[in-house]
Amino acid sequence: MTGVDRLEPHPVTGQLFRSPVPPGSGWPEDPATVMTPVAADAAAVAVLAQDADDLDALNARISVCRACPRLVEWRESVAVSGRRASFAGQPYWGRPGPWFGDPDAPILIVGLAPAANGTNRTGRMFTGDASGDFLYAALHRTGFANQPTSLGAGDGLALTGIRIVATVRCAPPQNKPTADEKATCLPWLRRDLELTPGLHTIMTLGGIGWAGVLAAARQLGWTVPRPRPTFGHAVETVLHRPDGSPVRVVGCYHVSPHNTYTGRLTPAMLDEVLMSLRR
Ligand code: SF4
Repeated sequence: MTGVDRLEPHPVTGQLFRSPVPPGSGWPEDPATVMTPVAADAAAVAVLAQDADDLDALNARISVCRACPRLVEWRESVAVSGRRASFAGQPYWGRPGPWFGDPDAPILIVGLAPAANGTNRTGRMFTGDASGDFLYAALHRTGFANQPTSLGAGDGLALTGIRIVATVRCAPPQNKPTADEKATCLPWLRRDLELTPGLHTIMTLGGIGWAGVLAAARQLGWTVPRPRPTFGHAVETVLHRPDGSPVRVVGCYHVSPHNTYTGRLTPAMLDEVLMSLRR
């Protein structure tokens, strides 16, 4: 997939971009440059993740990763020729979703994966679709966000005390990553947890995020309760780092329309879990 040669205006800044967006071409919040090393397979993900000195370096490397052929093909084909009609004239990010939020946050939200016309279009976690609208409105109500909407990189949105990542960083077909893809992407999350010793609470949106966090923690040598705690809404467990410091993990139903349109997850339920994270 070579991309769209024509230049199209960014929906927030109006600046012109190709799709997928080349690293370092000026996209707001792009963490990468042309010099950022690119992981081309699972082994390279493990090496480049472990070798990242800080969250910014990690984010840059994530945002240019090409280790999963099926997902690279999907994210770029959506960006070039599979766009939703209402976004047909917009440039598409077409790359893995970088983490978003407060780099010093003691609280981390772990989602499933970017949406094909959401993060894969806007370049920001949970941005550009109904799931993100639901989540950011709640983050604003509960004091974590300075505005209730996330339109796209460059809109002034800032989070305080919280940061957002995905378990799998590329949009998967039917929102279903394979077991191999989840395993290939896990070193990015593992290194993220290693680089954030001040983290005390993790909220997972859905069971895949829950499983990813527990798997990453085990690989890091953290103490994980046995039998493995089962995901559920408002279910909690506590992990311990090798130095004994605790990390609380809290489950929350995913903010996808499948849950929010049916009332399985209401704004009040999400607010309650978010408020509990500061305890
Ligand atoms: S899913 Fe993860 S490991 Fe696979 S290409 Fe995307 S960022 Fe890389």
